[in-house]
Amino acid sequence: MEAIHTVAWMKQVTRQARAEDRLLGFIPTMGALHEGHYSLVRQAQQQCSPVVVSIFLNPKQFAPTEDLKRYPRPFEADRAALEKLGVDYLFAPPVEEMYPKGFSTAVFVEGLSDRLEGRTRPGHFRGVTTVVLKLLEIVQPQKAYFGRKDAQQARVLRQMARDLRLDSEIITCPIVREADGLAMSSRNAYLSPAERRAATILFRTLDDARASIARGERDALRLTAAMRETLRTEPLAAPDYVELVDAETLEPVTRLRGACLALLAVKVGAVRLIDNMLIEENDSAVLTTL
Ligand code: AMP
Repeated sequence: MEAIHTVAWMKQVTRQARAEDRLLGFIPTMGALHEGHYSLVRQAQQQCSPVVVSIFLNPKQFAPTEDLKRYPRPFEADRAALEKLGVDYLFAPPVEEMYPKGFSTAVFVEGLSDRLEGRTRPGHFRGVTTVVLKLLEIVQPQKAYFGRKDAQQARVLRQMARDLRLDSEIITCPIVREADGLAMSSRNAYLSPAERRAATILFRTLDDARASIARGERDALRLTAAMRETLRTEPLAAPDYVELVDAETLEPVTRLRGACLALLAVKVGAVRLIDNMLIEENDSAVLTTL
């Protein structure tokens, strides 16, 4: 694996891959890699060669009050893990390389970015779309892989790619979970042992909703009310939002129809966690994917 730290060299490598007609796959990350990230790498490796992973802790997507300073940065361990996975290139630019002095451009997807995560974290998606567009421009991948763990992010990025007619296809991959259901996240490392146990409430809440849906419940208000009720059983958990939305528009629904997402953001102690479940209706069957 070759580690690349400058935009110029990364562009040189991707130009070469294009010239050789190779299918380039790309996974943007902020590091502190875990099995969730690795699953994106493996999917990319099945479909593309070469595979590029970026590690860039993007300051623009953190509000001043958020956890940028204490975000874990185990760069050497990440590098070794990617090497072991057989990744071809690691793109790890310093902040000044991505945002040189005087950088003043931003990209923003209206509407979809304002709801859910966007409401609690103003400016977050503006930071995400700005950095991802810049990364896609540098790496020029045919396919870029994102996790459904961040379902709204994936939806916002798909909109950006569509609106700007980007050449990169945005691919959304399944959520990887711990054995007890907790969605893997770099932020799980912040949890104390008691909070780690409490954090399973997100999965349990979604799983209860899945069971109600399997029993025939289709009413979104009743489902979200029951989900809030389940969350209340965990004293360490403070819900931010609990919503059932249309998977395309991210607007709240009153009844399950077509493709929907059940989305949760919950603070467990000081750690804000998110999770979601995909609910797809076809003909008479309803398929739930956690
Ligand atoms: P991050 O490093 O948190 O920016 O995440 C990089 C990519 O990995 C994003 O597309 C995330 O959605 C994805 N990701 C993070 N955690 C998981 C997970 N548990 N399962 C699947 N994808 C994930």
